[in-house]
Amino acid sequence: MTDQPTPQMNVESFNLDHRTVAAPYLRIADRQELPGGDVLTKFDVRFTQPNTEHLDSEAVHSLEHMMAEHMRNHSGDVLDVSPMGCRTGFYVLLVGDHGVDGFAPVLEATLRDLLAAEEVPAANEIQCGWGAHHTLEGAKTAARAFLDARSQWSQVTAG
Ligand code: ZN
Repeated sequence: MTDQPTPQMNVESFNLDHRTVAAPYLRIADRQELPGGDVLTKFDVRFTQPNTEHLDSEAVHSLEHMMAEHMRNHSGDVLDVSPMGCRTGFYVLLVGDHGVDGFAPVLEATLRDLLAAEEVPAANEIQCGWGAHHTLEGAKTAARAFLDARSQWSQVTAG
């Protein structure tokens, strides 16, 4: 642990000082213009405070399945929903140029679907690499907490 500035890294989030953020929040982690002119937007969807809290592994896994499936009912631009290895949130990759204000309603609708769901989609050995490693209730608890902080999503840093 050091307070020395780190050299510029290749990965956007490695240049983010995780001590300064105030989860839960939603921010653009990256925006890439492809050679053909199309744009990709990557969101950092942070559920828990870095280095303070993290989600249970089963909850992360079920949130991944449920957001990946339900979000596609609200947007045709979803390319990928992936958990962070630190288990504090997810990356959502969208085709097109999206802002936080445009994506927030999609994320909110997705999580409301999740709260109403009666099962985790594809939680079985045919469709998943660890079909038993899921918790519907754990996913709902995390989604509910994130939704409860809806008014704070656009505030990324404390103060
Ligand atoms: Zn899975």
